[in-house]
Amino acid sequence: MEFLKKLGIEGTNTGTSTGRKFLGSGAKEKLASYTPIDNSQIADVTVTTREEYEHVIETAQKAFEEWRMIPAPQRGDIVRQIGLELRANKEYLGRLVTYEMGKIYQEGLGEVQEMIDICDFAVGQSRMLYGKTMPSERPKHRMYEQWHPLGITGIISAFNFPVAVYSWNAMIAAVAGNVMIWKGSEKTPLCSIAVQNIIAKVLKRNDLPEGIFNLVTGGPEVGKWMSSDERIPLISATGSIRMGKEVAKTVAARLGKTILELGGNNAVIVSKEADLEMAARAIAFGAVGTCGQRCTSTRRLIIHEEMFDSLKDRLVAIYENVNIGNPLDEDTLVGPLIDQQAVDNMQKALDEIEQQGGERVYGGEVIDKNQLSDGNYVRPAIVTAQNDWDIVQRETFAPILYLMKYSDLDEAIAMHNGVRQGLSSSMFTLNLREAEAFLSTRGSDCGIANINVGTSGAEIGGAFGGEKETGGGRESGSDAWKAYMRRQTNTINWSDELPLAQGIEFDV
Ligand code: NAD
Repeated sequence: MEFLKKLGIEGTNTGTSTGRKFLGSGAKEKLASYTPIDNSQIADVTVTTREEYEHVIETAQKAFEEWRMIPAPQRGDIVRQIGLELRANKEYLGRLVTYEMGKIYQEGLGEVQEMIDICDFAVGQSRMLYGKTMPSERPKHRMYEQWHPLGITGIISAFNFPVAVYSWNAMIAAVAGNVMIWKGSEKTPLCSIAVQNIIAKVLKRNDLPEGIFNLVTGGPEVGKWMSSDERIPLISATGSIRMGKEVAKTVAARLGKTILELGGNNAVIVSKEADLEMAARAIAFGAVGTCGQRCTSTRRLIIHEEMFDSLKDRLVAIYENVNIGNPLDEDTLVGPLIDQQAVDNMQKALDEIEQQGGERVYGGEVIDKNQLSDGNYVRPAIVTAQNDWDIVQRETFAPILYLMKYSDLDEAIAMHNGVRQGLSSSMFTLNLREAEAFLSTRGSDCGIANINVGTSGAEIGGAFGGEKETGGGRESGSDAWKAYMRRQTNTINWSDELPLAQGIEFDV
């Protein structure tokens, strides 16, 4: 396939790289990559051995000494060039994301666009790693703060955003002066290799040392090497809450830093004063887009009782027209789930809902006809549910939308916040008082809260992340860059006296 060739993907690939150089041709263990389109094998990738891992760490440590001394705007220029290289490869990489992960081609392209956008953002940020200056209480003293890089940033990422999440972290961390070690998902190893090949072109052109952008490949085992490794001061981990709790514990035991971007359980409140047409379209995109496999996917719908039936009918009408199929086809809106396990998990969740007394309003079936029978295709489901059911409290990574009723806003907000996760949230209303209440301190408890905008599809300019079991980390825009740096407070005495702070006298 042309796009695989253009991205440097071969039948067997080596999964360990220190930048330009790939290592691991001798490694015995291999990871196979399958396309969820028909579950056929695309290629395989060697898993990083402990020995190779050690080599990567040592090379990264050495590179850090050099990279941190390059002025931040010059580091920004390298990231600018990566952005240009991504533009040149956008169609190929977008296609690979679709082929290996299963999201539709428009979303595959969108993911690469997000990488390009964060490169542009990081270029600007490279000239804005601002520290504050504050007045000293002592005469002829100057006090200020500056931000220094941390060292190696370890990035562990999930299958559902196989390229964008890496770049949110890596491009900001790079302009901050860090070197990166990336372990992508074992379900999407080819996406990681393709990105590494794109970055390698820029490293080569600029004659940069090995060890700045590193790649390791493997499953949780390799992730555990990283999280327990004292030589990696910061671990940024994106994935399930289960994984985040393990990583948090391991990194905390060595008092390292983490950025945790974990599961969501996102809700939309639909008021009786909502623009229902707009709400229905946004909810459908949020619930069925990426086949319900976004951390920000809309999972719970809290609908004012007077609007319940009309919104339900509108949603069913939209769902009936959603084209499910090969994600590479232009008119497909919903592609497959990532693997058979995900299909089974969805079916189990639907059984549990039924046992609890939930009504299946629409869909949920496994699609087993003609050319779709080999892939992991399902019909997105709409069900009625209660917020306190165990199944509703958990994140099922599949397109299941729970419909629930409310009668007053306080009750709706209590239901909305009544889950352990706190990533993305939204309210549809044209009533200013309701909107402001939802955004106020007594409103949504999520990291992202929107009015008349759905839960998924965040822009990179804002800080991205969530509260509670979602992990509390922030990535991308705003001042998220600070998490990749260490703050240093500096005081300089330019007087010929030695006054102590707080007026303390200490005559020696
Ligand atoms: P996952 O937790 O199974 O795997 C994520 C990554 O963690 C993989 O690279 C995996 O190898 C690694 N890993 C697993 N266990 C580990 C351990 N004990 N130590 C170190 N590394 C370990 O998640 P997934 O199925 O790939 O992704 C889906 C999940 O990710 C969903 O819960 C989704 O909500 C979440 N997610 C969150 C965000 C966010 O920004 N909040 C973004 C994307 C995905």
